[in-house]
Amino acid sequence: MPAYFDHNATTPLHPAARAAWLQASEQHWHNASSLYREAGMTSQALESARERLGDLLGTEAERIVFTSGATESNNMLFTGLAKCLEADAVVAISAIEHPSVREAARAMLGRGRIIEIPVDEEGVVQPAALQEVLARHQPALVSIMAANNESGVLQPWPELLRLCREAGVRLHTDAAQWLGKMKATGLGLCDYVTGSAHKFGGPKGIGFFVMAEAGESFPLLHGGPQENGRRAGTENYPAIEAMVTALEALTSRLPEQALAQAVLRDAFIQQMQQQFPGLRVISGGAPRLWNTVLMVMPRHDNLKWLTRLTRLGVAISTGSACSSGKEGASVVLQALGASWEELRRAVRVSGGWDSTAGDWQNLATAFAAAGEGLDAGGRAPD
Ligand code: PMP
Repeated sequence: MPAYFDHNATTPLHPAARAAWLQASEQHWHNASSLYREAGMTSQALESARERLGDLLGTEAERIVFTSGATESNNMLFTGLAKCLEADAVVAISAIEHPSVREAARAMLGRGRIIEIPVDEEGVVQPAALQEVLARHQPALVSIMAANNESGVLQPWPELLRLCREAGVRLHTDAAQWLGKMKATGLGLCDYVTGSAHKFGGPKGIGFFVMAEAGESFPLLHGGPQENGRRAGTENYPAIEAMVTALEALTSRLPEQALAQAVLRDAFIQQMQQQFPGLRVISGGAPRLWNTVLMVMPRHDNLKWLTRLTRLGVAISTGSACSSGKEGASVVLQALGASWEELRRAVRVSGGWDSTAGDWQNLATAFAAAGEGLDAGGRAPD
Protein backbone atom coordinates (compact mmCIF):
# COMPACT_ATOMS: atom_id res chain seq x y z
CA MET A 1 0.00 0.00 0.00
CA PRO A 2 1.61 3.29 -1.01
CA ALA A 3 1.83 6.11 1.50
CA TYR A 4 -1.63 7.58 1.06
CA PHE A 5 -1.89 11.36 1.06
CA ASP A 6 -5.11 11.79 -0.87
CA HIS A 7 -7.72 11.59 1.88
CA ASN A 8 -9.66 14.52 0.46
CA ALA A 9 -10.38 12.37 -2.60
CA THR A 10 -11.54 9.44 -0.53
CA THR A 11 -10.67 7.62 2.67
CA PRO A 12 -10.16 3.96 3.53
CA LEU A 13 -13.06 2.33 5.33
CA HIS A 14 -12.83 2.92 9.08
CA PRO A 15 -12.60 -0.41 10.98
CA ALA A 16 -15.62 0.52 13.09
CA ALA A 17 -17.59 1.30 9.92
CA ARG A 18 -16.59 -2.04 8.42
CA ALA A 19 -17.72 -3.90 11.54
CA ALA A 20 -20.98 -1.93 11.61
CA TRP A 21 -21.60 -2.64 7.91
CA LEU A 22 -21.03 -6.37 8.34
CA GLN A 23 -23.24 -6.58 11.38
CA ALA A 24 -26.02 -4.55 9.76
CA SER A 25 -25.80 -6.65 6.60
CA GLU A 26 -26.10 -9.85 8.59
CA GLN A 27 -28.76 -8.76 11.06
CA HIS A 28 -30.80 -6.16 9.22
CA TRP A 29 -30.69 -6.96 5.54
CA HIS A 30 -34.46 -6.88 5.16
CA ASN A 31 -36.20 -4.15 3.25
CA ALA A 32 -37.06 -1.39 5.71
CA SER A 33 -40.37 -0.80 3.87
CA SER A 34 -41.64 -4.38 4.15
CA LEU A 35 -44.31 -5.21 6.67
CA TYR A 36 -43.05 -8.18 8.69
CA ARG A 37 -41.24 -8.04 11.99
CA GLU A 38 -37.66 -8.29 10.67
CA ALA A 39 -38.27 -5.47 8.24
CA GLY A 40 -39.65 -3.39 11.09
CA MET A 41 -36.41 -3.98 12.94
CA THR A 42 -34.41 -2.77 9.94
CA SER A 43 -36.63 0.28 9.82
CA GLN A 44 -36.08 0.92 13.53
CA ALA A 45 -32.33 0.54 13.20
CA LEU A 46 -32.38 2.92 10.23
CA GLU A 47 -34.33 5.53 12.18
CA SER A 48 -31.97 5.18 15.10
CA ALA A 49 -29.00 5.84 12.75
CA ARG A 50 -30.85 8.95 11.51
CA GLU A 51 -31.29 10.11 15.12
CA ARG A 52 -27.59 9.61 15.84
CA LEU A 53 -26.60 11.59 12.75
CA GLY A 54 -29.04 14.30 13.82
CA ASP A 55 -27.35 14.39 17.24
CA LEU A 56 -23.91 14.75 15.65
CA LEU A 57 -25.07 17.59 13.41
CA GLY A 58 -27.26 19.22 16.01
CA THR A 59 -30.54 18.88 14.17
CA GLU A 60 -33.79 16.94 14.21
CA ALA A 61 -33.54 13.56 12.50
CA GLU A 62 -36.67 14.37 10.45
CA ARG A 63 -34.71 16.89 8.38
CA ILE A 64 -32.22 14.24 7.21
CA VAL A 65 -32.65 12.42 3.89
CA PHE A 66 -30.19 9.65 3.05
CA THR A 67 -28.77 9.85 -0.47
CA SER A 68 -25.93 8.32 -2.46
CA GLY A 69 -23.53 11.11 -1.53
CA ALA A 70 -22.80 14.81 -1.69
CA THR A 71 -23.09 15.02 -5.46
CA GLU A 72 -26.63 13.68 -5.38
CA SER A 73 -27.53 15.88 -2.40
CA ASN A 74 -26.17 19.02 -4.05
CA ASN A 75 -28.03 18.17 -7.25
CA MET A 76 -31.20 17.57 -5.25
CA LEU A 77 -30.93 21.03 -3.79
CA PHE A 78 -30.58 22.90 -7.06
CA THR A 79 -33.06 20.73 -8.92
CA GLY A 80 -35.58 21.40 -6.17
CA LEU A 81 -34.85 25.12 -6.14
CA ALA A 82 -35.20 25.34 -9.91
CA LYS A 83 -38.74 24.04 -9.51
CA CYS A 84 -39.86 26.23 -6.66
CA LEU A 85 -38.07 29.57 -7.12
CA GLU A 86 -39.50 32.48 -9.06
CA ALA A 87 -38.15 32.57 -12.61
CA ASP A 88 -36.06 35.68 -11.93
CA ALA A 89 -34.72 34.60 -8.52
CA VAL A 90 -30.94 34.35 -8.22
CA VAL A 91 -28.74 32.14 -6.07
CA ALA A 92 -25.33 33.13 -4.65
CA ILE A 93 -22.50 30.61 -4.45
CA SER A 94 -18.89 31.11 -3.43
CA ALA A 95 -16.24 31.28 -6.15
CA ILE A 96 -14.59 28.08 -4.85
CA GLU A 97 -17.50 25.65 -4.68
CA HIS A 98 -17.06 22.02 -5.66
CA PRO A 99 -18.30 21.24 -9.20
CA SER A 100 -21.23 19.30 -7.74
CA VAL A 101 -22.53 22.62 -6.42
CA ARG A 102 -21.34 24.95 -9.17
CA GLU A 103 -22.27 22.78 -12.14
CA ALA A 104 -25.57 21.65 -10.59
CA ALA A 105 -26.50 25.29 -9.94
CA ARG A 106 -25.55 26.31 -13.47
CA ALA A 107 -27.33 23.36 -15.09
CA MET A 108 -30.55 23.74 -13.12
CA LEU A 109 -30.84 27.52 -12.87
CA GLY A 110 -28.74 28.79 -15.78
CA ARG A 111 -25.51 30.73 -15.49
CA GLY A 112 -27.34 34.04 -15.56
CA ARG A 113 -29.02 33.29 -12.23
CA ILE A 114 -25.84 32.42 -10.34
CA ILE A 115 -24.06 35.20 -8.47
CA GLU A 116 -20.50 34.41 -7.45
CA ILE A 117 -19.37 35.50 -4.01
CA PRO A 118 -15.67 36.37 -4.27
CA VAL A 119 -13.04 35.05 -1.87
CA ASP A 120 -10.17 37.10 -0.44
CA GLU A 121 -6.50 36.44 -1.27
CA GLU A 122 -6.48 33.55 1.22
CA GLY A 123 -9.55 31.90 -0.32
CA VAL A 124 -11.90 32.94 2.49
CA VAL A 125 -15.40 34.34 1.96
CA GLN A 126 -15.27 37.49 4.04
CA PRO A 127 -18.51 38.47 5.79
CA ALA A 128 -18.34 41.87 4.04
CA ALA A 129 -18.29 40.17 0.63
CA LEU A 130 -21.38 38.16 1.52
CA GLN A 131 -23.08 41.25 2.92
CA GLU A 132 -22.52 43.08 -0.32
CA VAL A 133 -23.96 40.23 -2.41
CA LEU A 134 -26.95 39.95 -0.08
CA ALA A 135 -27.67 43.67 -0.29
CA ARG A 136 -27.09 43.99 -4.02
CA HIS A 137 -28.71 40.85 -5.39
CA GLN A 138 -31.15 39.63 -2.72
CA PRO A 139 -30.43 35.97 -3.58
CA ALA A 140 -33.00 33.32 -2.73
CA LEU A 141 -30.25 31.07 -1.38
CA VAL A 142 -26.57 31.28 -0.47
CA SER A 143 -24.32 28.24 -0.89
CA ILE A 144 -20.89 28.28 0.77
CA MET A 145 -18.89 25.14 1.48
CA ALA A 146 -17.75 24.55 5.06
CA ALA A 147 -14.21 23.41 4.12
CA ASN A 148 -12.57 23.51 0.73
CA ASN A 149 -11.51 20.25 -0.87
CA GLU A 150 -8.38 21.67 -2.54
CA SER A 151 -6.90 24.13 -0.06
CA GLY A 152 -8.63 22.91 3.10
CA VAL A 153 -9.69 26.50 3.89
CA LEU A 154 -12.39 26.67 6.54
CA GLN A 155 -15.09 29.18 5.83
CA PRO A 156 -16.45 31.20 8.75
CA TRP A 157 -19.88 29.66 8.23
CA PRO A 158 -21.31 30.49 11.68
CA GLU A 159 -20.76 34.20 10.95
CA LEU A 160 -21.97 33.83 7.35
CA LEU A 161 -25.05 32.03 8.64
CA ARG A 162 -25.77 34.92 11.00
CA LEU A 163 -25.66 37.36 8.08
CA CYS A 164 -27.94 35.16 6.00
CA ARG A 165 -30.39 34.94 8.90
CA GLU A 166 -30.41 38.73 9.27
CA ALA A 167 -31.17 39.04 5.57
CA GLY A 168 -33.81 36.30 5.74
CA VAL A 169 -31.92 34.18 3.22
CA ARG A 170 -31.34 30.43 3.49
CA LEU A 171 -27.79 29.06 3.68
CA HIS A 172 -26.61 25.78 2.19
CA THR A 173 -23.26 24.43 3.24
CA ASP A 174 -21.51 21.56 1.49
CA ALA A 175 -19.83 19.91 4.46
CA ALA A 176 -18.28 17.00 2.53
CA GLN A 177 -14.75 17.93 3.61
CA TRP A 178 -15.56 19.32 7.04
CA LEU A 179 -17.25 16.23 8.44
CA GLY A 180 -15.03 13.84 10.37
CA LYS A 181 -12.17 16.34 10.36
CA MET A 182 -13.90 19.05 12.37
CA LYS A 183 -16.68 18.79 14.96
CA ALA A 184 -20.04 18.67 13.22
CA THR A 185 -21.86 20.37 16.08
CA GLY A 186 -23.86 23.36 14.92
CA LEU A 187 -23.83 22.48 11.24
CA GLY A 188 -27.49 21.59 11.63
CA LEU A 189 -28.18 25.28 12.22
CA CYS A 190 -27.58 25.82 8.51
CA ASP A 191 -30.71 25.45 6.41
CA TYR A 192 -29.26 22.85 4.08
CA VAL A 193 -26.24 20.62 4.72
CA THR A 194 -24.82 17.98 2.39
CA GLY A 195 -22.18 15.30 2.96
CA SER A 196 -20.60 12.07 1.69
CA ALA A 197 -19.62 9.11 3.88
CA HIS A 198 -16.50 8.06 2.00
CA LYS A 199 -14.79 11.35 2.88
CA PHE A 200 -14.79 10.35 6.55
CA GLY A 201 -14.16 6.61 6.67
CA GLY A 202 -17.63 5.49 5.60
CA PRO A 203 -18.48 3.44 2.52
CA LYS A 204 -18.76 4.95 -0.94
CA GLY A 205 -22.17 5.65 -2.45
CA ILE A 206 -23.87 6.88 0.71
CA GLY A 207 -24.40 10.37 2.04
CA PHE A 208 -27.09 12.68 3.31
CA PHE A 209 -28.99 15.88 2.75
CA VAL A 210 -30.29 17.98 5.65
CA MET A 211 -33.39 19.81 4.46
CA ALA A 212 -34.45 23.17 5.83
CA GLU A 213 -37.69 21.67 7.11
CA ALA A 214 -38.76 18.08 7.64
CA GLY A 215 -41.74 18.54 5.34
CA GLU A 216 -39.73 19.97 2.47
CA SER A 217 -39.19 17.70 -0.51
CA PHE A 218 -36.82 18.06 -3.47
CA PRO A 219 -37.17 14.62 -5.05
CA LEU A 220 -34.58 13.81 -7.67
CA LEU A 221 -35.50 10.14 -7.85
CA HIS A 222 -39.15 9.20 -8.24
CA GLY A 223 -40.65 5.87 -7.32
CA GLY A 224 -41.40 4.33 -3.94
CA PRO A 225 -42.28 6.24 -0.77
CA GLN A 226 -38.92 5.75 0.95
CA GLU A 227 -37.44 8.58 3.03
CA ASN A 228 -40.95 9.96 3.50
CA GLY A 229 -41.35 10.39 -0.22
CA ARG A 230 -38.25 12.56 -0.42
CA ARG A 231 -35.94 10.03 -2.08
CA ALA A 232 -37.22 6.89 -3.78
CA GLY A 233 -35.28 3.64 -3.71
CA THR A 234 -34.66 0.99 -1.06
CA GLU A 235 -32.59 2.48 1.73
CA ASN A 236 -29.06 1.15 2.03
CA TYR A 237 -29.25 0.59 5.76
CA PRO A 238 -25.88 -1.18 6.19
CA ALA A 239 -24.10 1.71 4.46
CA ILE A 240 -26.07 4.25 6.50
CA GLU A 241 -25.14 2.46 9.73
CA ALA A 242 -21.49 2.34 8.66
CA MET A 243 -21.53 6.05 7.73
CA VAL A 244 -22.92 7.16 11.07
CA THR A 245 -20.59 4.82 12.98
CA ALA A 246 -17.56 6.21 11.12
CA LEU A 247 -18.58 9.78 11.89
CA GLU A 248 -19.12 8.97 15.55
CA ALA A 249 -15.75 7.22 15.77
CA LEU A 250 -13.82 10.08 14.16
CA THR A 251 -15.71 12.81 15.97
CA SER A 252 -14.92 11.25 19.34
CA ARG A 253 -11.21 11.93 18.71
CA LEU A 254 -11.70 15.62 17.91
CA PRO A 255 -10.33 18.18 18.50
CA GLU A 256 -7.22 16.69 20.21
CA GLN A 257 -6.33 14.51 17.26
CA ALA A 258 -6.75 17.44 14.84
CA LEU A 259 -4.39 19.60 16.86
CA ALA A 260 -1.73 16.88 16.91
CA GLN A 261 -2.06 16.33 13.16
CA ALA A 262 -1.79 20.06 12.41
CA VAL A 263 1.63 20.08 14.07
CA LEU A 264 2.81 17.28 11.75
CA ARG A 265 1.39 19.07 8.72
CA ASP A 266 3.15 22.30 9.64
CA ALA A 267 6.47 20.49 10.12
CA PHE A 268 5.99 19.02 6.64
CA ILE A 269 5.36 22.49 5.19
CA GLN A 270 8.49 23.81 6.86
CA GLN A 271 10.60 21.01 5.46
CA MET A 272 9.10 21.46 1.99
CA GLN A 273 9.88 25.18 2.07
CA GLN A 274 13.49 24.41 2.98
CA GLN A 275 13.79 21.82 0.23
CA PHE A 276 12.06 23.92 -2.40
CA PRO A 277 12.73 27.65 -2.03
CA GLY A 278 9.95 29.52 -3.81
CA LEU A 279 7.29 26.91 -2.98
CA ARG A 280 3.96 28.61 -2.31
CA VAL A 281 1.44 27.23 0.16
CA ILE A 282 -2.01 28.32 -0.92
CA SER A 283 -4.09 29.88 1.86
CA GLY A 284 -1.20 29.28 4.25
CA GLY A 285 -2.37 32.18 6.41
CA ALA A 286 -6.00 31.08 6.71
CA PRO A 287 -7.63 28.60 9.09
CA ARG A 288 -7.44 25.28 7.26
CA LEU A 289 -8.22 21.63 7.65
CA TRP A 290 -5.42 20.00 9.64
CA ASN A 291 -4.75 17.44 6.93
CA THR A 292 -4.54 19.50 3.75
CA VAL A 293 -1.73 21.34 1.98
CA LEU A 294 -2.23 22.85 -1.47
CA MET A 295 1.11 23.94 -2.88
CA VAL A 296 2.41 25.55 -6.03
CA MET A 297 5.73 23.87 -6.69
CA PRO A 298 8.53 26.17 -7.86
CA ARG A 299 9.11 24.02 -10.95
CA HIS A 300 7.76 21.10 -13.01
CA ASP A 301 4.18 20.22 -13.95
CA ASN A 302 2.00 18.61 -11.32
CA LEU A 303 1.47 15.45 -13.37
CA LYS A 304 5.22 14.96 -13.46
CA TRP A 305 5.37 15.27 -9.67
CA LEU A 306 2.47 12.91 -9.32
CA THR A 307 4.01 10.30 -11.62
CA ARG A 308 7.40 10.42 -9.90
CA LEU A 309 5.83 10.22 -6.46
CA THR A 310 3.60 7.33 -7.47
CA ARG A 311 6.69 5.42 -8.48
CA LEU A 312 8.19 6.20 -5.10
CA GLY A 313 5.09 4.69 -3.47
CA VAL A 314 3.33 7.93 -2.55
CA ALA A 315 -0.21 8.84 -3.57
CA ILE A 316 -1.02 12.56 -3.84
CA SER A 317 -3.28 14.68 -6.04
CA THR A 318 -2.84 17.47 -8.54
CA GLY A 319 -5.46 19.36 -6.55
CA SER A 320 -7.98 18.89 -9.30
CA ALA A 321 -9.17 16.32 -11.77
CA CYS A 322 -6.59 17.07 -14.43
CA SER A 323 -3.77 19.42 -15.18
CA SER A 324 -3.96 19.47 -18.94
CA GLY A 325 -6.98 21.69 -19.44
CA LYS A 326 -8.25 24.78 -17.66
CA GLU A 327 -11.69 23.24 -17.07
CA GLY A 328 -10.16 20.64 -14.78
CA ALA A 329 -7.58 22.93 -13.21
CA SER A 330 -7.69 24.10 -9.61
CA VAL A 331 -10.87 26.08 -8.97
CA VAL A 332 -9.26 27.65 -5.92
CA LEU A 333 -6.19 28.85 -7.78
CA GLN A 334 -8.33 30.23 -10.58
CA ALA A 335 -10.45 32.12 -8.04
CA LEU A 336 -7.23 33.52 -6.56
CA GLY A 337 -6.18 34.74 -9.99
CA ALA A 338 -3.22 32.37 -10.43
CA SER A 339 -1.48 32.25 -13.78
CA TRP A 340 -1.80 29.26 -16.10
CA GLU A 341 1.81 28.37 -15.25
CA GLU A 342 1.00 28.25 -11.55
CA LEU A 343 -2.14 26.19 -12.14
CA ARG A 344 0.00 23.56 -13.79
CA ARG A 345 2.35 23.35 -10.84
CA ALA A 346 -0.31 22.86 -8.14
CA VAL A 347 -0.21 19.73 -6.01
CA ARG A 348 -2.35 18.76 -3.04
CA VAL A 349 -1.48 16.45 -0.22
CA SER A 350 -4.12 15.37 2.28
CA GLY A 351 -3.19 13.20 5.22
CA GLY A 352 -5.36 10.97 7.33
CA TRP A 353 -6.43 10.72 10.94
CA ASP A 354 -3.62 8.29 11.69
CA SER A 355 -0.82 9.68 9.53
CA THR A 356 2.30 9.59 11.69
CA ALA A 357 5.23 11.99 11.98
CA GLY A 358 7.19 9.37 10.03
CA ASP A 359 4.60 9.32 7.23
CA TRP A 360 4.78 13.11 6.83
CA GLN A 361 8.57 13.00 7.01
CA ASN A 362 8.70 10.28 4.35
CA LEU A 363 6.39 12.33 2.17
CA ALA A 364 8.77 15.30 2.30
CA THR A 365 11.72 13.00 1.59
CA ALA A 366 9.86 11.48 -1.38
CA PHE A 367 9.25 15.00 -2.75
CA ALA A 368 12.98 15.72 -2.44
CA ALA A 369 13.85 12.52 -4.32
CA ALA A 370 11.20 13.19 -6.97
CA GLY A 371 12.51 16.74 -7.38
CA GLU A 372 16.06 15.53 -7.90
CA GLY A 373 14.86 13.08 -10.50
CA LEU A 374 12.82 15.71 -12.32
CA ASP A 375 15.64 18.27 -12.22
CA ALA A 376 17.98 15.68 -13.68
CA GLY A 377 15.46 15.03 -16.46
CA GLY A 378 15.11 11.70 -18.23
CA ARG A 379 12.71 8.92 -17.45
CA ALA A 380 11.27 8.42 -14.02
CA PRO A 381 12.85 5.39 -12.37
CA ASP A 382 10.70 2.28 -12.45
N1 PMP B 1 -18.29 18.46 -2.20
C1 PMP B 1 -17.00 18.46 -1.88
C2 PMP B 1 -16.44 19.64 -1.14
C3 PMP B 1 -16.18 17.39 -2.22
O1 PMP B 1 -14.88 17.42 -1.90
C4 PMP B 1 -16.74 16.30 -2.91
C5 PMP B 1 -15.90 15.12 -3.33
N2 PMP B 1 -14.70 15.46 -3.96
C6 PMP B 1 -18.11 16.34 -3.22
C7 PMP B 1 -18.85 17.43 -2.85
C8 PMP B 1 -18.77 15.23 -3.97
O2 PMP B 1 -18.79 14.06 -3.21
P1 PMP B 1 -19.17 12.67 -3.86
O3 PMP B 1 -18.23 12.48 -5.01
O4 PMP B 1 -18.95 11.67 -2.79
O5 PMP B 1 -20.58 12.75 -4.30
